Amino acid sequence: MDRTINLKLELSGEDKETLRQTMVLSNQVFDEIALYGFEHQTHSKVSIHHETYYPTREKHPELPCSLLQGIRDVACDALKGVELKRLPKSKPYSAIRYNKRVCNISLIKKRVTLSSIKGRVKASFPIPKYYEKYLLWELRTSTLSYNKQRNTFYLNVTIHKQSPETIGDKVLGIDRGIVNIAVTSSNKFFNGKPIKNVRAKYAHLRAKLQNKGTHSAKRLLRKISRKEERFVTNVNHCISKEIVAMPFDVFAIEDLTSIRVQSRTKGIEFTRKLNNWSFYQLEQFLRYKAETIGKSVISIDPRYTSQKCSACGHIYRGNRRGNSFHCVKCGFQIHADLNAARNIAEIGKSGLGRLTVTQPYMTCDEVEACKGTEIEHSHKAPPIGRGSLQVNT
Ligand SMILES: [Zn+2]
Repeated sequence: MDRTINLKLELSGEDKETLRQTMVLSNQVFDEIALYGFEHQTHSKVSIHHETYYPTREKHPELPCSLLQGIRDVACDALKGVELKRLPKSKPYSAIRYNKRVCNISLIKKRVTLSSIKGRVKASFPIPKYYEKYLLWELRTSTLSYNKQRNTFYLNVTIHKQSPETIGDKVLGIDRGIVNIAVTSSNKFFNGKPIKNVRAKYAHLRAKLQNKGTHSAKRLLRKISRKEERFVTNVNHCISKEIVAMPFDVFAIEDLTSIRVQSRTKGIEFTRKLNNWSFYQLEQFLRYKAETIGKSVISIDPRYTSQKCSACGHIYRGNRRGNSFHCVKCGFQIHADLNAARNIAEIGKSGLGRLTVTQPYMTCDEVEACKGTEIEHSHKAPPIGRGSLQVNT
């Protein structure tokens, strides 16, 4: 498993200036290499290396060659990321990547040596208590970032540890939804009412603001959606925390792509995005928290989980009516979400043989844990793939 820790560097004024200049030059070189790749329509590291390495070394002899290699890799990745459709551009103080060779970190000694245009720069950093468990993890790549307002440098270090191999076989099924955010096969219901109430509170205001369309209305709209986001995030944190603490080893959930909320109008579209985002976030929190304590989360094929009778296995669309499930074959009656959760657990058990733990996961709630320490954190939500929450204005 991978984690990212954020270290605030303590540097002399002179060293800060050196790193600033190194950053500016690195980003200038990034732009030059990206331009070459874009003009020649290639993101191949080998061919870009062949064509740009020596000219760049000649043009900027002060740039350490190992740093140059890192810049080239990042430029190639950036070109690949945009599929060569546009020219990736950096800013003078965009973060720069340091691979292991140019960045010598000792978490135990709390010291780091960084290559720069004026030789090696030494820095120290405090380690908060919360990070102490990471001291013996393997170090991967690091990224140096700079906050101009605070005139402070930060080092984001990716660290790695082998995931625990032994996984038990007690499976809990979890059904996600809107009326109930989560229902577990162990009969626990997490009601969606608190979220629904908060949304209802803002829905009217949002509609009004959307019609207004002025600059301040848009700003207020963004503020509201951030507030809603924070609320949903907190609910997801609480639910996932409670679920992973349950006496089970493996948590089975439906593949997210199965959850679709129909929508036509703008207002409903917003709800749909928020729901997708929220489902995705809950899944990430579950994975992250489960993994930390040596448990795991698996995604299962969602077909028929709501139509199948969890008692006799009979599949029939008419078995489900709203919140209730009534099997036409065996007469079994149960809450529809609970029935689905039990089916999900069943599929999870049968799929245990081919269990894989997907990697890597980004940190997300370490921010919370580090509040009050002197380490700065970027207050970013976990990476949100599809269905990222945006306001329609
Ligand atoms: Zn049945």
